[in-house]
Amino acid sequence: MTTMSNARRGLPLTSSRIEKIFPKLTPAQISRIAAHGHIRSVQSGEVLIEQGDKSVPFFVVTTGEVEIIRPCGARETLVTVHGSGEFTGEVNMLSGRRSLVRARAIKPCKVIELDHQQMLALVQTDAELSDILMRAFILRRVELISAGVGDIVLVGSAYSAGTLRIKEFLMRNGQPYSYMDLERNQDVQNLLDSFQISAGEIPVLICRGQIVLRNPTNQEIADCLGFNESIDQTHVRDLIIIGAGPSGLAAAVYGASEGLDVMVLETSSPGGQAGSSSRIENYLGFPTGISGQDLAGRAYVQAQKFGTDILIAKATRLICDSKPYVVELVSGARIPARTIVIATGAEYRRPPCKNLSRFEGAGVYYGATFVESQLCSGEEVIVVGGGNSAGQAAVFLAETTKRVHMLVRSAGLAESMSRYLIRRIEETATIVLWPYTEIVAIEGGDHLEFVRWHNNQTGQTEEHKIRHIFVMTGADPNTSWLDGCVALDKGFIKTGQDLSPDNLSAAGWPIMRQPYLLETSLPGVFAVGDVRGGSIKRVASAVGEGSIAISFVHKVLQE
Ligand SMILES: Cc1cc2nc3c(=O)[nH]c(=O)nc-3n(C[C@H](O)[C@H](O)[C@H](O)COP(=O)(O)OP(=O)(O)OC[C@H]3O[C@@H](n4cnc5c(N)ncnc54)[C@H](O)[C@@H]3O)c2cc1C
Repeated sequence: MTTMSNARRGLPLTSSRIEKIFPKLTPAQISRIAAHGHIRSVQSGEVLIEQGDKSVPFFVVTTGEVEIIRPCGARETLVTVHGSGEFTGEVNMLSGRRSLVRARAIKPCKVIELDHQQMLALVQTDAELSDILMRAFILRRVELISAGVGDIVLVGSAYSAGTLRIKEFLMRNGQPYSYMDLERNQDVQNLLDSFQISAGEIPVLICRGQIVLRNPTNQEIADCLGFNESIDQTHVRDLIIIGAGPSGLAAAVYGASEGLDVMVLETSSPGGQAGSSSRIENYLGFPTGISGQDLAGRAYVQAQKFGTDILIAKATRLICDSKPYVVELVSGARIPARTIVIATGAEYRRPPCKNLSRFEGAGVYYGATFVESQLCSGEEVIVVGGGNSAGQAAVFLAETTKRVHMLVRSAGLAESMSRYLIRRIEETATIVLWPYTEIVAIEGGDHLEFVRWHNNQTGQTEEHKIRHIFVMTGADPNTSWLDGCVALDKGFIKTGQDLSPDNLSAAGWPIMRQPYLLETSLPGVFAVGDVRGGSIKRVASAVGEGSIAISFVHKVLQE
């Protein structure tokens, strides 16, 4: 057991904001909470919450003390002790996911108890308490993550792509975990031996000390951690949103806050492409920028606060020939809904180069705006790609950089680029075209430092000290799973006025009115964000579209 700093028993805190993490409620606030639940007497030693319990209740301690413990086999680590006026809980209080800790009375106590639904009703109706509780829940989860207080252990290696994938999945889902590195941790071999795992089977995830997963898929991890088990997958929802990037999360926040019964499906983790951006500088209201992970984390909690169910599962099919519509999941489960918002985004085509994702936002960029151009002013940069977006980027970057190296796999630009852009590139002395050329390796520390490229015709490989690569090789929309349900244009979903009479008659548009803004060729099915044809590929526009779609969802539900 650990007795730590900040004059508070329990784990040391990384944050100095102790009064925000463990606020003391006033008598007036406590009586407002009491109105939502009931008062309970608890014996000393009585367990209020067991580690692994689902949809745990929320407790306010009015007298006595409740300790929060992380059990690990026969050992217990004290996380904190809640005294009178304090309350239990962290973010899984909102999601209904399994408890990471045990809560036990260490003195005879009186507590106010609220079940999961009563807790949600409280944060949705009492703005002052919502502020206090949400902030404490989020800050407590941050502390749990930094202390590695979870019920899973990841055994992996810094050299394994599977380990990186799992770390990213856990991190972006805000899941605390302990990590043991095969190369650095001497205890690892003992652990592997006790579970009869050979070193070749890593990464290995040990879930709740019992289940051993060898190089699990994201879906297997989500299932093992019980991410989805408290969510009812059978009843007909008002709205299913597919994709939890900025557009899907915005639709969820607006939909749920306006009283709709909303479910979000997400293959991997909330945030989408934006979640991989180290700093978004052009999103309104964040003058010093915000990391994509922070923005996504906040939106995720906000959507859950309003009662959105978020299922970590891949949608594999839309069954659209009858109503209600049905979304089929990779598990085979089928979820019915009256309306659908497709927010599955797009995936930038990435050259097959190791380490590329490691430097995203730190030397590797998928857009060339003013913000990126400022990062590389006066330096040499690389633009990969031979299409119009690559041409525009090269011309734009040439204004502020020392030299732009354009790398194209083909013989030149003529086939893939508009004539006017080719002329401008030819006229700009600082743009150098490298035909038949591909990047084969990139290296660096926290930031990209070196790039090696290879000429497929001469067989020559060169290394250059270049810190910025602009990958402008296009994006593929995530629409293959829609299988003919809605009209597409080059894979992107057509909506509203972009749908021609031919599109509508081919789709058998069955009603008198024309499609609403953002509505696809299927009534009541909307598309928002990067997956939509003609969309502006930006966080703000994705958020805007997700929010706007909800007003049309209401109209369809009233039809
Ligand atoms: C590295 C990087 C940096 C960026 N920086 C900026 C920036 O600074 N400013 C800016 O304005 N824009 C930036 N962008 C662009 C911006 O992130 C996107 O325009 C925005 O994220 C689009 O949001 P979206 O919700 O439409 O789609 P996405 O963000 O692509 O999200 C789609 C989500 O759907 C999920 N999904 C896909 N298929 C399925 C399925 N079948 N079932 C369930 N879920 C599914 C995906 O896992 C993903 O989470 C950046 C993009 C990248 C890649």
